[in-house]
Amino acid sequence: MANTFAPLPPVPDHPALEHEILELWEREGTFFKLVERNRGGPRFGFMDGPITANNPMGVHHAWGRTIKDVFQRYKALRGFDERYQNGFDCQGLHVEVEVEKSLGLDSKRDIEEYGLAEFAARCKERVAHFAGVITEQSKRLGMWMDWNNSYYTFSDTNIEFIWRFLKEVQGRGWLYKGHRSTQWCPRCGTSLSKHEQAGEENYVELEHPSLFVRLPLKERKGESLVVWTTTPWTLPANVAAAVKPDAEYGLTREGLWYRVEEKLDPDAYVAKVRGEELVGLEYEGPFDSLPAQEGVVHRVIPWDEVSLDEGTGIVHIAPGAGADDFELSRVHDLPVLMPIDESGRMLPGYGELEGRTTNAVEEPVIESLHERGLLVDVGTIVHRYPICWRCKTPLLFRVVDDWFISAEEIRGPMLEANATVEWTPSFYSKRMDDWLRNMGDWNISRKRYFGLPLPFYPCSCGHLNVIGSRAELEERATARLEGLQELHRPWIDAVTIRCEECGGDVERIAEVGDAWLDAGIVHFSTLGWGNPQRVEHGNATGAAAGLTGADLPDHSYWEKWFPADWVTESREQIRLWFYSQSFMAVTLEGRSPYRAVLAYERVRDETGREMHKSTGNAIDANEALERMGADVMRWIYCAQPPSQNINFGYGPADEVKRRLLTFWNSVSFFVTYANVDGFDPAAPRGELKALDRWLVSRTSAFVRDATAAYERYSTPAVVVAFDRFVDDLSNWYIRRSRRRFWEGDATALRVLWKALTTALQVIAPVMPFLAEHLWRSLVSANESIFLAGWPEAGEVDDTLLTEVVAVRRVVELGRQARAASGLKLRQPLRRLVVAGADPARSHAGEIAEELRVKDVEFGDVDASELRVKPNLPLLGPKLGPVLRDVRVALQEGRFEALEGGRFRVNGHVLEPNEVFVERVGKEGWAVAADDGLTVALDTALDEELLREGRVFDLIHKVNAMRRAEGLELTDRIRLWIPDEDLLAYADRIKEDTLAVSVELGELRLEKA
Ligand SMILES: [Zn+2]
Ligand SMILES: [Zn+2]
Repeated sequence: MANTFAPLPPVPDHPALEHEILELWEREGTFFKLVERNRGGPRFGFMDGPITANNPMGVHHAWGRTIKDVFQRYKALRGFDERYQNGFDCQGLHVEVEVEKSLGLDSKRDIEEYGLAEFAARCKERVAHFAGVITEQSKRLGMWMDWNNSYYTFSDTNIEFIWRFLKEVQGRGWLYKGHRSTQWCPRCGTSLSKHEQAGEENYVELEHPSLFVRLPLKERKGESLVVWTTTPWTLPANVAAAVKPDAEYGLTREGLWYRVEEKLDPDAYVAKVRGEELVGLEYEGPFDSLPAQEGVVHRVIPWDEVSLDEGTGIVHIAPGAGADDFELSRVHDLPVLMPIDESGRMLPGYGELEGRTTNAVEEPVIESLHERGLLVDVGTIVHRYPICWRCKTPLLFRVVDDWFISAEEIRGPMLEANATVEWTPSFYSKRMDDWLRNMGDWNISRKRYFGLPLPFYPCSCGHLNVIGSRAELEERATARLEGLQELHRPWIDAVTIRCEECGGDVERIAEVGDAWLDAGIVHFSTLGWGNPQRVEHGNATGAAAGLTGADLPDHSYWEKWFPADWVTESREQIRLWFYSQSFMAVTLEGRSPYRAVLAYERVRDETGREMHKSTGNAIDANEALERMGADVMRWIYCAQPPSQNINFGYGPADEVKRRLLTFWNSVSFFVTYANVDGFDPAAPRGELKALDRWLVSRTSAFVRDATAAYERYSTPAVVVAFDRFVDDLSNWYIRRSRRRFWEGDATALRVLWKALTTALQVIAPVMPFLAEHLWRSLVSANESIFLAGWPEAGEVDDTLLTEVVAVRRVVELGRQARAASGLKLRQPLRRLVVAGADPARSHAGEIAEELRVKDVEFGDVDASELRVKPNLPLLGPKLGPVLRDVRVALQEGRFEALEGGRFRVNGHVLEPNEVFVERVGKEGWAVAADDGLTVALDTALDEELLREGRVFDLIHKVNAMRRAEGLELTDRIRLWIPDEDLLAYADRIKEDTLAVSVELGELRLEKA
């Protein structure tokens, strides 16, 4: 007879079956059928956080992309209408730096020589290329998206929506140009904002010089301040020295002022004063002869923030080279000397140092100080130091003009909006609140090239013109509009506009925008906020033309889909995308752009270390997909609690494969017997036995629990529910029903089939390939599991489920007791006593069978005894000399057990923590206990039990022989056995070995 179900190989070849399924989906158009089927249904709005189209997808991206797909698939199975729009982040420093590398450019001057138009073209090419690569990789991962309609953040449409936002911000008076000290990357030639730099990965341990420098006081001959610095390049820009007013400072015999150190000999100082007494003193600057220092009067200023933990307690202040320094310059009206240009080289006015990098001036600065006798000490220090988040260059401080959006007025509304959001894990909500409470003004300008062109046109009349749309730009343009091929540099730079205040011609500022504006606006730009009419391919504009077919919908579409029901990205996006999209949505619409968020941590290697290409422990996503398979990767991501880092690698993948094998083997078992018996799922099922009723109920409970887990965005809970269900299915239902399958019981097959196929439906969002593969084999060769809807959870008999949980615990403990006693499971025993498992009472027969005991009793276990030992460190002090007697009494068992774990011994009451309690089997009993449940096996053996033990050994042996001789499961045999006394058990032996006859003789069998 032909097989109804295709037999399964012993282990699944994940990558191979995944390729088959991908082809099948492609051929059948499964995804589009699903979209069509759900159109007009209830909506599930997911907004994709754009992935940077700048490099291939990594295994760290695959976590989020898996989670996105899991919940989109789950909601689709439940009939929800979805958008499936993928997003690509396309401009800004990410892309520029990679393009620079590929072109061998290493500075802004190089880029300008290369040409901005050509540079923009290379950036676009890179984005187009990697958008294609990521699309293919995502498909391979099983991600279902509407790939022909991805949004690209560098489209003119996206840019225009940001312009609109910026115009709104200006209208509220939040936009300003700030003159500030900022963290500066000398390689990228731009300032970097706090939210970009906040990550831990943006700090590394670096070695720097550590200098103690003497600054002679002008009015006090022979006395000098001593300052400490790790940045020699800032000393030529020194203008002040700060002391802590209420700290104590001392003058050493050598004439040096330091803060007083308590550990030093009090006689080490010839004079002591409070810091405030030094304030106002003038000193000779370390580099007074430089032209830049002309006219600077150096003096001591007070500062409460002076650290007494490091350095000398006197801080060198260079307002042009440090953030705190710059703030102090405003308070104390200090001159601001700017020592470096945007590439980190010393400016004119710094003598021989001019044109050298901050590193290159270390030597000459130290030498000069040394020659002039100003160097008290020099060494090196290793400390945590910030590096550029993009190119890893150590950062400097510069004072520059940047554009900011004030956060003051939006802070409160953003906190209120965040209170409406459901966060998973829930404590991330507080992290978001913390970020919002502490966020500074948003630095939105970058002195770069391929990014959002900020539409700011400051006029010499003092008016700031902000352009809010392309139409406005066209209307107000005074020159070179015809050359504007897209809203990027260099084309936009050429267009001048008319000042709305004075009518004069105005040029755009050169700056581009923070890339988080690009990603933050997508709830508006992709959904058609305020757009009167749908524009076909209206998001395929500017740099995105030809890359996508995405439309620009009209406002009614936005009303339907805003806010998103759900977004998900990594936890660090709290200070990045979750922040920027909320900032923009609360500004434009007064509410959060998302109702629920799932945030997750980071991907590490399997030993928990960060993955780096340079350390050789990074795993390439393509390699992982082809070596472990997409389903296995997805399983690893889904099983992980999102608030902890994942340890990802081939070791964990093998562990997942091993666990998945239990399910695979259960399906394989079903297929084997279903084929033997010609099982037809469509045939009506017979009457259910108790165990069948249990599995039906257990299956319903699994659907119920897993559905609830999906509903609260908890993939780990889905995975746990599946694991437990498979364990029950395989190690209880199938184990307990083997005989029925042998006998071709159609009802058992039917119940098992239903349980397996339901499990496939429930786990399909997590493991779409394996689920589809097995579904095609068990249910329908021609129709996808993803078109089969979501299974209904039937009625759940919770009492029955509780009973079987108790039974399985009893059996588990019974096995432990047997193992501890050294008796093998095939040896029948007389009696098992169970205490503390009342729900299992009605299942004594099953327990007896599983544990091969003749009789199961429920009641107190007196087969064990308590051993109580004193906790000496506690009881010693409490009892003193009587401890000895108590100890002996405990040893001899002369004690009384009281309520609540107390014991009375010799008239003393001992508390639970004062004793160690152990329950051990009495002679002749094997006992095991766990969490309120105790089982005791009577281990006494008699003639009959021993003989029965030999029967089971024999059956085991014969079945091994059957397999060794390659007999089919259904083949009957004739059997000869050597032990005459076992012939009395011939019926049992026949039944368990499919023998038609059992005769006396040397042990052998032959096919009947
Ligand atoms: Zn950089
Ligand atoms: Zn003007």
